[in-house]
Amino acid sequence: MFAEVAFPLPLPQPFVYRVPADMSGVAVGCRVRAPLGSRRMIGVVTALRREAPDLERTRDLLEALDALPSVSAELFDLVRWMADYYVCSWGEVFRVLLPAGMLSSNPASVRMERRVRFAPAWRHAEAAETLRAELRGARQRAVVEALADYRAEGFPEPRQADVLARAGAASSTLRSLAQRGVLEIVEAEAIRAGILDADTPAALPERTLHPAQAEALRAVSECIEARRFRAFLLHGVTGSGKTEVYIEALKQAIRQGRTGIVLVPEIALTPQIVRRFRAHFGNRIAVLHSGMSAGERFDTWRLLRAGRFDAVVGPRSAVLAPLPNLGLLVVDEEHGQSYKQQDPAPRYHARDVAVLRARMNDAACILGSATPSLESHYNAQTGKYTLLPLPERARRERGQSVPLPRVRIIDLRGAPSSASLSPGLEAAIEERLARSEQVILLQNRRGYAPLPECTRCGWSPECPNCSITMVFHKSGHCLRCHYCGRAEPFRARCAQCGETGIEVFGAGTQRVEEELETRFPEARVVRMDLDAAAAKGAHETLLRRFEEGKADILVGTQMVAKGFDFERVTLVGVINADIGLLLPDFRAEERAYQLLSQVAGRAGRASLPGEAIIQTRNPDRSVLRYARDHDYATFAARALAERRALGYPPFGRMAGVAFRGPHAGDVAALARRWTEALRQALPAAQVMGPEEAFVSRVKKQYRYHSIVKRRRAGRMSLQKALRTVERDMRSLPTGCRVNIDIDPVGFF
Ligand code: ADP
Ligand code: ZN
Ligand code: ZN
Repeated sequence: MFAEVAFPLPLPQPFVYRVPADMSGVAVGCRVRAPLGSRRMIGVVTALRREAPDLERTRDLLEALDALPSVSAELFDLVRWMADYYVCSWGEVFRVLLPAGMLSSNPASVRMERRVRFAPAWRHAEAAETLRAELRGARQRAVVEALADYRAEGFPEPRQADVLARAGAASSTLRSLAQRGVLEIVEAEAIRAGILDADTPAALPERTLHPAQAEALRAVSECIEARRFRAFLLHGVTGSGKTEVYIEALKQAIRQGRTGIVLVPEIALTPQIVRRFRAHFGNRIAVLHSGMSAGERFDTWRLLRAGRFDAVVGPRSAVLAPLPNLGLLVVDEEHGQSYKQQDPAPRYHARDVAVLRARMNDAACILGSATPSLESHYNAQTGKYTLLPLPERARRERGQSVPLPRVRIIDLRGAPSSASLSPGLEAAIEERLARSEQVILLQNRRGYAPLPECTRCGWSPECPNCSITMVFHKSGHCLRCHYCGRAEPFRARCAQCGETGIEVFGAGTQRVEEELETRFPEARVVRMDLDAAAAKGAHETLLRRFEEGKADILVGTQMVAKGFDFERVTLVGVINADIGLLLPDFRAEERAYQLLSQVAGRAGRASLPGEAIIQTRNPDRSVLRYARDHDYATFAARALAERRALGYPPFGRMAGVAFRGPHAGDVAALARRWTEALRQALPAAQVMGPEEAFVSRVKKQYRYHSIVKRRRAGRMSLQKALRTVERDMRSLPTGCRVNIDIDPVGFF
């Protein structure tokens, strides 16, 4: 018997090994240890076969690591599709599918620990009552109560240490209860999961769904019941009750004995959503987040696979969670950029993978957004997805749904560049503070006054590694590169003309914060950006402070545009809408529209009416007008017409190829040869480039890229052409890399 094994490396093909007789139990999807060159590595068996490979020498597998396959048949099909579609190796997909510890040469192992459960005779629900009457010792009663509580919370077999802590008892108490036959102490696989310790928030009131919500729920439930695949676009304005629909749909799936995956853009920024799911599903729902240790991930993964949870909430990679019997996949804020993995491979889009996985499982998939991606909007228009509109906000005041915020555009032309708050915005803030309402201010740039520039000659200090302008940080009085993190002291003397002419323009979040402190000394301001929230859990703390009314103004980067639901926020200000609008990317307008609508949507979500103020030096840009009028339909129609004319997605397919390397000449030459070969392979497609990347050097790596754009499927698929060229150009100059990106998002 021979086994093909994929390793978590960018290798084009699996390697073939002989399966020794004592390992005849290995199956497809099992992890094995095998020799690779002079190393021993862990990989996943992707195929088994009888014929010997056409090789001089076939090495033996060294060790089988799984009794049961780590990768189920269902996920295996998904892996195959992802590797094909995203032009990467199977092993690279396994790397996101399996928790980190499982493929490292020192694999995460299972620890044993002591657990406690009721003896069979005492497992029925009334047993705890009887026992409480029978047992004399207060400690023994406390243990029984603790155990009964754990069971009620969904843990029939808690850790011994947890039971003792909760009951305030010693292990001798446990032992005597075990001797009396009340409970059993068992050795079981340890679970290192904060996941199981989280408090369950108080249950939320049951809501009567509004007609539009009920209609959406009905359509989704029907699909789940019929075990029929369907993708839905839940297009609901901010605060229209989309989350409520997700929750009810998930309940339906669970009632049918199925499981669900809920994807959210970023867990740290969505604590409210997680709390809501916890309040409804308690400990039957697992939460995946970036703060988890490798051990916790490994344990959560195993529990998910074992069917311990009904659902999982998590970011991008949760789309590959090993839940058996999936019935529902939800992608909240489906337009979010964080669903696309950039580096390393697989450069997959979790939204697209979610739709595919739903299809493979005859499950329903809900894509929810107030500002859908144009791709999803188009799919709903053409009937590929079913559109479920929620046109009004869910909260009602005297029978009327709460209106969307009024949006005002303030023209900054002619205003001094030194102040970030225009008189109009300042007055609006003052009004809110006087009424003790809350304000959110968005400035899409961190730091103090970010762009240093010489007032004499126009020169700007650039990061020598990354060729982008350094940003001024007031704390430390230094310049910092936001790509690679390089820091250097700030100098007023210009390196080009030698004058002391360097000044800083444009306000970052820190500078806005400081201006607020000067202008509104009474106001309590919290700032949220990558600098302020470097520490683990810092986002949550900051947000909670704001939520509890212990702060008046929240200033931050685009993080503050996420799905927060704060009742007392009645004003949202966008300090400078021009930042981020001018990137060389065909999705720049779409992103601007989404960001502006999302952040405006934070205002006036409850009984108090909301207002949003957008400051700009380009007030005539149409995207600002559409955002002001909450006119997604016109915005989308216009933007789609433009994309159709230019053959951009969803009317054409795109792929990006990025070339990197330490020597400019090598990279440029490689990029030219590679791109030429691609042109030959795809004569009907438009192959653009190679170009120096927008940021041409990052971390001392020179970067070039080419873009392929094709309107219609030709004879050879994009993927096949890219694979062919990749194979023909196998030997790369030292240190150079070629990264293929299908359906690229963002500039590269
Ligand atoms: P979205 O996810 O679209 O932003 P949410 O589900 O967060 O909207 O709902 C916005 C607010 O309206 C929340 O506070 C939610 O509790 C409330 N809400 C949602 N549905 C209803 C309903 N049917 N009746 C009353 N309030 C609702
Ligand atoms: Zn840099
Ligand atoms: Zn100068």
